[in-house]
Amino acid sequence: MLIYTGGTIGMIRNPETGALETFNFDHLRKHVPELNQFDYVIHSYQFDPPIDSSDMEPTLWAKLVKIINYNYQNFDGFVILHGTDTMAYTASALSFMLENIAKPVILTGSQLPIGVLRTDGKENLIASIELAAAQDSDGNPLVPEVCVFFGQHLLRGNRTTKSNAENFNAFSSYNCAELARTGININYNYGNIRKPDLSKPFSPHFEYENCVLALTLFPGIRKDLIEHVFKLENIRGIILRTYGSGNAPRRQWLIDAIKKATASGKVVVNVTQCQCGGVEMGLYETGLQLLSAGVVSGHDMTIEAAITKLMVLFGRGYSAEEVRQLMNISLAGEITE
Ligand code: ASP
Repeated sequence: MLIYTGGTIGMIRNPETGALETFNFDHLRKHVPELNQFDYVIHSYQFDPPIDSSDMEPTLWAKLVKIINYNYQNFDGFVILHGTDTMAYTASALSFMLENIAKPVILTGSQLPIGVLRTDGKENLIASIELAAAQDSDGNPLVPEVCVFFGQHLLRGNRTTKSNAENFNAFSSYNCAELARTGININYNYGNIRKPDLSKPFSPHFEYENCVLALTLFPGIRKDLIEHVFKLENIRGIILRTYGSGNAPRRQWLIDAIKKATASGKVVVNVTQCQCGGVEMGLYETGLQLLSAGVVSGHDMTIEAAITKLMVLFGRGYSAEEVRQLMNISLAGEITE
């Protein structure tokens, strides 16, 4: 099943303003007649209106979950066409909302619209459909998880980050090796692909709570700003984007603000500003003090995974202590074990 949410892949240029605008899905089919060569039955669903992914909202993640859940038994796999800007957030959110998924959900898009001569959209779309339909000789899907396919790389969705606004290779997965690469053949890294636990049912979740924020530390960050942010009433989860292996300045006011926030039931998660590697709070005194103030390690999670995981866990009604425990372990391959 092909779900078109919007994004550059299906955009055309407005001749008057020169800006790219979303277009009808028929436009996409017209420009990719190759789709008719597949011997798969491809059913498509289009968001109306299609959206630029900067307008993506958690309600639309829930809508995607509903579409997949409704059609789960009838299709071998799902391809979601999505703008690149927030694709890593949607892929991360879906990986937590589609608990125990046992079928491929592949998000893809393009840097150039599909009607443009040098477009990367055609190859991304065609390869994604092939990956979503690929099965072993027993009829089991080869990649039964939420993935991003872009520029020849199949990546675990909740490990991806948009790292390039210019190249066809727009996504990186710094802490997790790719699941497959397309060339003349498709080469699967079978050892990296998650195996679904078929004893557990597929459990879709539609709830989320957007009561979270991410705060990037920088030298000179103000005490009053920190104190204000950690006291915000409607915020239940705070991601502290720390230095290196999870370090923060040794300031008593920072520790006090974190302790008070934790005591009042907020969950504070440590995610490094580095793209590669993760948090090890026991390594330096500056990290250890965060641990003793009640901060939870985000390990090597991306910021996209940490934000969406918090939203989904709070949405599912877990207590602060339960959320702390679940943030600390891998639920959908988002943390290296
Ligand atoms: N702004 C567009 C979007 O994210 C960019 C893209 O599709 O790549 O929807």
